[in-house]
Amino acid sequence: MTQKPVLISGAGLASLLLARSLLRSHIPFHIFERDASLSSRGQGYRLRLSAEGLDAIETVLDKTAWQKFYDRCGKTGGGGMQVIDAITGEIIEDQQTSSGGGLGSREGKIVGIARGDMRNLFMEGCDEFVTFNKHVKGYELTDDGVRALFSDGTHSEEGSMLVGGEGINSYVAKQLSGGKLKVYDTGARGIHGQASTTAFKGLGEGVFRLVDNSKPGGSFAVITNVRADDMDNPDIQFGWTMIGEPGVIKAPNDDYTIVGELAANMAKQLTSKWHPRLRPLFAECNSSEGAFWKITISTPSGVPEWKNDPRVTVIGDAAHSMTPAGGLGANTAVRDSALLGRLLSEANGYKEGLTAAYEKGMRVYGSEAVGTSYNMARKMFKVDINEKTSDTLEGEVRDNRSFEGDLGETQQRSQAV
Ligand SMILES: Cc1cc2nc3c(=O)[nH]c(=O)nc-3n(C[C@H](O)[C@H](O)[C@H](O)COP(=O)(O)OP(=O)(O)OC[C@H]3O[C@@H](n4cnc5c(N)ncnc54)[C@H](O)[C@@H]3O)c2cc1C
Repeated sequence: MTQKPVLISGAGLASLLLARSLLRSHIPFHIFERDASLSSRGQGYRLRLSAEGLDAIETVLDKTAWQKFYDRCGKTGGGGMQVIDAITGEIIEDQQTSSGGGLGSREGKIVGIARGDMRNLFMEGCDEFVTFNKHVKGYELTDDGVRALFSDGTHSEEGSMLVGGEGINSYVAKQLSGGKLKVYDTGARGIHGQASTTAFKGLGEGVFRLVDNSKPGGSFAVITNVRADDMDNPDIQFGWTMIGEPGVIKAPNDDYTIVGELAANMAKQLTSKWHPRLRPLFAECNSSEGAFWKITISTPSGVPEWKNDPRVTVIGDAAHSMTPAGGLGANTAVRDSALLGRLLSEANGYKEGLTAAYEKGMRVYGSEAVGTSYNMARKMFKVDINEKTSDTLEGEVRDNRSFEGDLGETQQRSQAV
């Protein structure tokens, strides 16, 4: 008897890696992605991969695909993070130990890759099982399966189960958890930008946090990653991410869909008194690539409990979205794909009790990651969420993490803290 497919909403990092796992196990699947293609909107910024994230990806991919993936990752030496006073240019803290400090994940190197590249590599072999322009708005259970419902009024074929992987705006997550899976506005805001590698020459190789405590309204900082191997490539632009405590960075009319010059100019203005060694990152930035960014997080106390539905579950940001502090979001998302993929492989497809087993495991490391990211964000950006009173984001959250131009390998947005 032909197996019904595993339905997957969203073709993001978590979904595509899960797809690769299913492909390897010969379990049929069908992905529905709202965009017209993988490159129809921005892919953007660079992700730092932790040891756990790399391990998860390695367990899913076959040997050749893994090697290709790992070869494609950039490897930054120079140890851990150097914290610099942005006004004086002086080093405040140097975590650049020889072994990669706290940021190194393999071979003493800090390993990173552009999100767009990661998505394209995960997509290999999956193309024929992805349908684009399908906006999942929910699902309906059938006697013996589940169907995804689309915003155009149509629905999918019957699947054995549905996996919600549509990121922070997940309708599947809302329906499944009865609204228990929430996304909070931290109040912190950011700007992404990028500039040619020459603007970064004054920094040297490594990961840097440039801190400005001079503004009376609160402090803000920029994170950037300078890779020596790419330094002399004229086609490459390095990215930076600026994050301010609540109130420091404000988009006009609090509109975080704004991209381009307005965002770039605000970054230039905020850094106009920075040390001359650091100013080129902003003064010479590629204005069209500036973008505002609202920093959100899932429930800080952890992934909530909901009544398990054997045929529906969630992975990635749909289950646990994080602030950039700690660089844990994508690394946790790929762990979900590896875990759910392994359980499906062991059961040779859908099995009663499988989603409950997955959620039990995911809640442990997912909650820990959200808590870590929140506590780091509290210290770094002075965010404070009271789960009873803080604003949750209703409706579609403009996800600035995915509206960047399709920058591929040559132009990448910045990395997490
Ligand atoms: C600046 C920045 C830096 C970061 N750095 C790091 C880092 O260094 N390390 C790290 O681990 N994490 C990092 N993160 C977080 C990381 O990007 C996310 O955790 C990760 O992308 C989540 O993957 P996902 O598959 O769950 O969702 P996504 O990758 O967001 O994919 C969701 C997909 O679903 C699609 N979709 C959305 N709604 C629907 C719908 N209704 N129907 C169908 N499809 C839909 C979207 O178009 C998208 O393709 C960073 C984030 C930011 C903003």
